[in-house]
Amino acid sequence: MAWAPQQKRAEPNPRDFRARQDGRGGSSGGSGWSGPAGHTEVRASGPGEPPLCFRLKNNMIGVVIGRGGSKIKDIQATTSTKIQIIKGDCEAEVKIFGTKDMKAKAKATIDALVKKQERGHHSESRVDSAAPQASAGKELRPDNTGAKQVQPLIDWDQIRAEVVEWEKRKWADLPPIKKNFYVESEATSSLSEAEVDMWRKENFDIMCDDLKDGQKRPIPNPTWQFEDAFHPYPELMKSIRRAGFQKPTPIQSQAWPIILKGIDLIGVAQTGTGKTLSYLMPGFIHLNNQPIPREERNGAGMLVLTPTRELALQVEAECSKYSYKGLKSVCIYGGGSRERQIRDITKGIDIIIATPGRLNDLQMNNFVNLRSITYLVLDEADKMLDLGFEHQIMKILLDVRPDRQTIMTSATWPDTIRRLAQSYLKQPMIVYVGTLDLVAVNTVKQNVIVTTEEEKRSLIQEFLQGLSPHDKVIVFVSRKLVADDLSSDLSIQGIPVQSLHGDREQHDRERALEDFRSGKVKILIATDLASRGLDVNDVTHVYNYDFPRNIEEYVHRVGRTGRAGRTGVSVTLMTQNDWKIAIELIKILKRANQSVPEDLLTMAERFKMHKQKKDTGKKLKSPGKPREFY
Ligand code: AMP
Repeated sequence: MAWAPQQKRAEPNPRDFRARQDGRGGSSGGSGWSGPAGHTEVRASGPGEPPLCFRLKNNMIGVVIGRGGSKIKDIQATTSTKIQIIKGDCEAEVKIFGTKDMKAKAKATIDALVKKQERGHHSESRVDSAAPQASAGKELRPDNTGAKQVQPLIDWDQIRAEVVEWEKRKWADLPPIKKNFYVESEATSSLSEAEVDMWRKENFDIMCDDLKDGQKRPIPNPTWQFEDAFHPYPELMKSIRRAGFQKPTPIQSQAWPIILKGIDLIGVAQTGTGKTLSYLMPGFIHLNNQPIPREERNGAGMLVLTPTRELALQVEAECSKYSYKGLKSVCIYGGGSRERQIRDITKGIDIIIATPGRLNDLQMNNFVNLRSITYLVLDEADKMLDLGFEHQIMKILLDVRPDRQTIMTSATWPDTIRRLAQSYLKQPMIVYVGTLDLVAVNTVKQNVIVTTEEEKRSLIQEFLQGLSPHDKVIVFVSRKLVADDLSSDLSIQGIPVQSLHGDREQHDRERALEDFRSGKVKILIATDLASRGLDVNDVTHVYNYDFPRNIEEYVHRVGRTGRAGRTGVSVTLMTQNDWKIAIELIKILKRANQSVPEDLLTMAERFKMHKQKKDTGKKLKSPGKPREFY
């Protein structure tokens, strides 16, 4: 909203409010179109990056701003810049804040708009000097006075073409990317179709598809042994052997040949399936075999975006564990020391593992070069969207070359994720591990207790008292407050617990996880922040003290136990407030061959009736999800 006239600003903007509250409001003193909060723009451009300033005739301001501010909003959004226009007597001063490239892009778009407008004026006065003036972007209709119809003043096709041209120029100096590194082994190529089908069926019902438009490509056969995927890379084989793994996990078997062939991939799989190595290992090979040597690339080659710092740290741990050819990685996340991360990132690294918020912050302030990225991973994309990172992801990817290879993982496959995949992946293949719309947990005995809010405390006490010394439990709660309350209650009773939630300092969170991982404490009380990416293999129980906000989150929470070939137990408390979710929960329980308590069936039945009553006359919609991929 940097362009809005202060007296006309209709929508309250929290940042503007803050600016006025602390007395730093951006009153320009001048009249006209000025930025509301000076410090906001400065922050967008970064300390070392002055704004791009130029002058604009006053009669062009309207063209740049557009109807209701639509044009300038578009320019700001597509270029991640902030634009300030301060009207003077004859000319306005325009300031563009943002990264160097983006400022230039925004200016090019403004120049094109002005040029168009001037050309329009010209031809207009030549055709009919008496024709009325059209407002920006508005087409004049023929009227009964016989006045000629005026062409639209903004030629959108031309502007789009110019943006495409600009995009081409932006990436023109980059070196070519090599993507295909796959050498199919004899064992893999000799597999028959029936053998492959049988293997997929027996390995969590793996399903694959090619999402390319037009003629489909054959899906590569799975690589049953590590050698089948990596025989040309003996060093990588060595580190796999060192880890002591027996064979690839199902997602690895199917993902490796696809990624190694250079094809974009969507992997629908949970944490615990080996998904991290399914993208890291081919990524290592990709990085080490680019036409331009690593040291000449002027930046990292691989970027892994993750939703939480916990997951980022875990991915980095895997990176270091299987380190290949000395590839260096760095972890960038909110809460960690910004200065240290800035120092690390400028030290010549190959792999950036980052949460979107902090990376976007460093990007906007020109501390990180993303132009060198050729291998991009969006890990747990559904969780990133849940946490509201879509905007930051969009801004980050503006600076990543479009012909990169992209891998996306997600535990679920709802419409929002399909749209994300459509925007950022090119002709991908998709590999599902598990069922189509939700990965059911088969290795966990799932218990559900229908109760009341008041009874929850005594139920959890009873449960904790019944545990054996070897048991390890994650107790999930809905809010930080409940986490603190419950952990202090238990601590007072002498039961050692740790808690994990967003309000705790980063080092406290890391400490809590470490205590739990090492077994120093056996009970971890956590909000959903910890429900994914939490890779602790010996959790025996998951206790859902509060029901999660959706069924996907339930599956993720329950999936924290029953990992790595073990079985686990989950206990879920449900109250009347959770009745909306009962129908979906019953489906999950049935799919995983679990018994469904009578109370839960009654709850679902009552909700159905309530809904039917509410939608009087309307039939209940089938909750089935569309099976099409996009
Ligand atoms: P992830 O799904 O990436 O969170 O992986 C879960 C755990 O499985 C990690 O501790 C990995 O080290 C481990 N893992 C990865 N690949 C394999 C494999 N092929 N065999 C056994 N464990 C594996």
